[in-house]
Amino acid sequence: MGIALYVAYQALMANETPVACILVKDDKVISIGSNLTNDSLNGTRHAEFIAIDSVLDGLKDRKPETIREEFQKLTLYVTVEPCIMCASALKQLGIGKVIFGCGNDRFGGNGTVLNVHRDNIGETYKSYGGILRCESIQLLRNFYIQENDSAPIPQVKKNKDLLKPYPPMEWDLYDKVDLFDGKGREVAPGGSYKLIDLVQPEDLKVAGDVDMEFYDYFYDIKDGEVDFNKAVKIVDGKRRRVNEE
Ligand SMILES: [Zn+2]
Repeated sequence: MGIALYVAYQALMANETPVACILVKDDKVISIGSNLTNDSLNGTRHAEFIAIDSVLDGLKDRKPETIREEFQKLTLYVTVEPCIMCASALKQLGIGKVIFGCGNDRFGGNGTVLNVHRDNIGETYKSYGGILRCESIQLLRNFYIQENDSAPIPQVKKNKDLLKPYPPMEWDLYDKVDLFDGKGREVAPGGSYKLIDLVQPEDLKVAGDVDMEFYDYFYDIKDGEVDFNKAVKIVDGKRRRVNEE
C-alpha cells in the first residue's frame, strides 16, 4: 500500500487527483495506475482502469476464462475504496483481492455505498479497507486545498483543513481483516508508526525515481492517532507548511 500511496503522491505533484493503485502478483508489482481524469478529461480513467488495461494488454487474444484465471492471482492495492463502476469491473475480471486505504463516501462499491464485491451477482471477491487510510485522506485534502489556489483570492484559511481530525472508519461497513497488528484493522490502532517504517525507498523504485520528500509529506501516527505536531514540510508553489500561520 505504501507504493500505491507513493504513486498517488506523484499524481498530486502532477496536479492530478491523488488516487492510485498497484496490481500485485506473487509479491511483485505488475501494474501501476493513477487517476487521469484531469489530464485526459475522461471521467472514467480511474486508477483501477489504467492498471487493469495494462494487464489486459498482456493478455490479448486470451479466452475470458484465462483472463479471469490470471486476475484471480492478483491483489489490487488502491488508496481509495473502488467506486461502484470499478468495483463491478474488478468483479467481472475475477480479481483475487482488494486492499484499500480510505472509504469512498460518495461512490464506494466495496462497502460504503454498495457491496459490489459480495453481492449475489457473479463471483465475490475479498476487499479490506483502512490500510494507510489517514495518509490517503491527507493526499486528497492537500489536493482540494490546491484547487483553491486557482480562485481569484486564494482561500488561505482552507489551510486549516489540513489540521482537522480524521473521521473514524466505520468498520461495520467493511469486511474485517487482521492485516497488520493482529487485533484491529487499521495499520496501527493504538500503535505508532512513521511511513518510512512501513515502506522503504528501495520499494518505491518500482514507481520511478524516489522523491524522499514523500516521507516528510505525511503526519506520523502516534498512539493510533494522527500526530499533528509534526511539521509537514512541503506543499510547494501550491505547497505550504501547515504548522505556520
Ligand atoms: Zn472508479
